[in-house]
Amino acid sequence: MALGSVIIVGGGMAGFAAARELRARGFSGRVTIIDPEGMPYDRPPLSKDYLLGRKSPQQLLLADPAWFSEQDIAVVTGKAAALMPDEGIVLLADGRSLAADKIVLATGAVPRRLEIPGADTGSVLELRNRDDADKLRALLWPGVRLAIIGAGLIGAETASAALALGAQVTLIDPVSPPLVPAVGAHLAGRLHAMHAARGIEVITGVPAAITPDPSGSTITLAGGRTVSADQVLVGIGVAADTTLAAFAGLDTDNGILVDERQRSSHPNIYAVGDAARVRLPDGRLLRRAEHWEHARNTGATAAAALLGQELPNHGASWFWSDRHGVHVEGVGSMAGGGTVVVRERNGVPVASFRLDVAGYMLGCAAVDGGLLVRAARRIIDRAILVDPAKLADPDVDLRKMAR
Ligand SMILES: Cc1cc2nc3c(=O)[nH]c(=O)nc-3n(C[C@H](O)[C@H](O)[C@H](O)COP(=O)(O)OP(=O)(O)OC[C@H]3O[C@@H](n4cnc5c(N)ncnc54)[C@H](O)[C@@H]3O)c2cc1C
Repeated sequence: MALGSVIIVGGGMAGFAAARELRARGFSGRVTIIDPEGMPYDRPPLSKDYLLGRKSPQQLLLADPAWFSEQDIAVVTGKAAALMPDEGIVLLADGRSLAADKIVLATGAVPRRLEIPGADTGSVLELRNRDDADKLRALLWPGVRLAIIGAGLIGAETASAALALGAQVTLIDPVSPPLVPAVGAHLAGRLHAMHAARGIEVITGVPAAITPDPSGSTITLAGGRTVSADQVLVGIGVAADTTLAAFAGLDTDNGILVDERQRSSHPNIYAVGDAARVRLPDGRLLRRAEHWEHARNTGATAAAALLGQELPNHGASWFWSDRHGVHVEGVGSMAGGGTVVVRERNGVPVASFRLDVAGYMLGCAAVDGGLLVRAARRIIDRAILVDPAKLADPDVDLRKMAR
């Protein structure tokens, strides 16, 4: 039976990309996006330009409202409360129900909660959506003492933005340096050291409790050290939002399990973006990705699959991050074994490469090296054998090696 209608639950990058690709690929049936936050908007600026006040809410939107009218894509403001997969029905929390031939779950992820006493009080901040960013921004006046628990991508970006807004920032993480699996040890060390060099107090420690006090909160670390702060933000990663899928009986395991077509364990339901995790035909589960481009790519794949078209080939996964005026990019995977080659300029690491035993590149990360990472991506995707000595040489243009 020809596809006549699609409901997309979640209007983040993955849901938006699925809708946009359905239309770009010629689908003329009904497309509906459901999201309690209304018009689809972009999240990466929330810890960067939006937090800094350099982007307006309007500038966060993934497309102008007029575009949705032109494309005949309905955006329903509401929260999906339950699914009836066999019938293709989505029940909304306000009592409405919508039906379609296929449903795409693009519910994203939710911040991980710190499981320590005091972490569940309403005063502890997190940063996942626009309301979180608005709340945080309103509290960031010059001199405010902000303690951030978690120095990963979001924690580090927020620390950098808060510092720029005049806050006194303390950054706490049990691991030093964090982000080794994302960018390799050398770049992780360089990036982490930038915090202290810019005036952030960096503490390696494990938070054990958060206690409200008259002027804010006191964080007690294992070992007894305490940190006083006016505001506490927790940024310790996210968990896939599988609530709807699990309730509907779909297979989940740290993500809604999907095949390479983004199809879940029910033939009527697809899942994309941060919420989805690929299960290979042999049962092995891939690591779930939590990056913007992955969200966009999986939305496109789901659209192609829904229309019975050839699946796009996206190649190695890519992400970026910005902090303290530097731009970080990574492609492929820096986590795991193999050989690590570091490229330094004037004794400072600028890029890292991970090679397998045969010398093929598996991953690359760089600071202020967008062109280099793009070339590395081509090397990974085309499985070009590379000379480690050339990778390490800052005067060798990687683009020549990628031809
Ligand atoms: C502050 C921040 C900064 C980031 N910076 C970067 C970066 O620099 N580089 C990078 O590569 N990635 C970055 N990311 C990650 C990137 O934004 C995510 O990977 C991407 O947003 C995932 O898209 P998604 O559509 O899967 O999920 P989301 O963007 O989380 O969207 C999910 C949507 O589903 C909706 N939803 C959930 N449950 C329901 C329901 N029951 N009914 C209806 N709707 C529902 C939510 O309201 C939400 O709008 C950042 C993320 C954050 C939060």
